[in-house]
Amino acid sequence: MIFMKANKNIKAVIFDLDDTLIDWSGARMSFRQFMDPKLVNVHQYLTDLGFEVEDPPELANRVHDHTRFVWQRALETGSGASLVNALKMTLDDYDIPVEAVDMDEMLRAYQWGKFPGVEPFDDMHRVLDTLKDQGYKIGLVTNAYQPMWMRDVELEEYDMIDYFDARITSGDTGFIKPHPAIYWRMLGLLDLMPDEAIFVGDRPDQDIKGAHSVNMRGVLMSPPHLNRELNGVRPDHTVSSLSELLPILDDLA
Ligand SMILES: [Mg+2]
Repeated sequence: MIFMKANKNIKAVIFDLDDTLIDWSGARMSFRQFMDPKLVNVHQYLTDLGFEVEDPPELANRVHDHTRFVWQRALETGSGASLVNALKMTLDDYDIPVEAVDMDEMLRAYQWGKFPGVEPFDDMHRVLDTLKDQGYKIGLVTNAYQPMWMRDVELEEYDMIDYFDARITSGDTGFIKPHPAIYWRMLGLLDLMPDEAIFVGDRPDQDIKGAHSVNMRGVLMSPPHLNRELNGVRPDHTVSSLSELLPILDDLA
């Protein structure tokens, strides 16, 4: 049943994903340890197509080097970090024309999935169920460098994909938080103005700073395992769990 509040000012809650809705405190390995077996799959994909590439560890080194580069450039310029671009640079190293590879198939070869030890915060389902019941739209804006469909694999495994009215990654949009363009993209998808939504995220310098750049309220998610520097950013609210959002929204309604 939908309990729509009359004259509700805030119509949508837009979330960051990592360390906002899903909890990385229990992550059981490094990102590199997680990725390298997946890059063996990518290596297999390329050799099956008949391309000559180095052994998996060398291929992995190249992908990681290019990944560092695309992230560095993204953070400097506000352009989107893109796994696809890192892979294109790797193909270029081997003189493999990009057109010779079906990029989606190559990405599927990763066999992407949830990161060992990462789980939704305990109250995530309850809070998002409540927001849906109260009639809020729910958006997701992540700085992930993958296309959204890859992170969707995780959202499916966590049984949370159905909550979202719209969801985008940096890899898809070509912009990275705090660039205003990625916020405007989400607002466009939700058909809302900035003062009709609030943004919830764990990084002051990205999530909150970017929300403020478009005059959207920003709620800092500050779970116990994180202690991020504010660096002059002033969140409108700070919560240590998702449940604390609900009274804040009641006050704004
Ligand atoms: Mg995050």
